[in-house]
Amino acid sequence: MTSLFDLPCPAIPLDDAEFPVRRIFCIGRNYADHAAEMGVAADRDKPFFFTKSAHALALPGAIPYPPGTADLHHEVELVLAIGAPLFSATTAQAAAAIIARAVGLDLTRRDLQAEAKDKRRPWDAAKDFESSAVIAPLSRAAAGPGIRLSVNGAVRQDGKLSEMIFDEAALVVYLSKLYHLQPGDLVMTGTPAGVGALQPGDRIDAKIDGLPPLSAQIT
Ligand code: MN
Repeated sequence: MTSLFDLPCPAIPLDDAEFPVRRIFCIGRNYADHAAEMGVAADRDKPFFFTKSAHALALPGAIPYPPGTADLHHEVELVLAIGAPLFSATTAQAAAAIIARAVGLDLTRRDLQAEAKDKRRPWDAAKDFESSAVIAPLSRAAAGPGIRLSVNGAVRQDGKLSEMIFDEAALVVYLSKLYHLQPGDLVMTGTPAGVGALQPGDRIDAKIDGLPPLSAQIT
């Protein structure tokens, strides 16, 4: 049977290879100081998550200002790459399945998210849109401790990965109880405080110690 059209699989560089992206899971409120700036208390009992479609993925570079918003926000995040099937995993199994890490941006239409929260509607339009998951090349190196983001050279976000309420293995254990995780799945692990608005022309530099840096320009 022939295919009606080509559907290219998005991918991220990983050393000399490409990591094909299957799904993107995103954790909310995983840093207490960011939850506080959003006006809520972080839930320490269990994490919560939302998703972005694989086709929200963009590599660093020129990122178009998206339609339908007047309040596009940056969120710098550690991204985990899952490289093995995983279901109902132990902590050790989850840790072993994380084969690489990257710096990522969870771009957010904050005004649409506020409206969705207010009306108890889903976050899809606020979080899952074209080029809303900007992800730098993956690396097998250790990540941290620092995670930072600057806009036009001014530091906006400056945190530590150790401030995550749920660490990377705990997040993957949690997701593996809800999904049969597969190679190609990505996990965006939440953002520290300092999120803020972006304008066309802004240059973003994001960095996690040990990982390839991310640079992007909003066009
Ligand atoms: Mn986020």
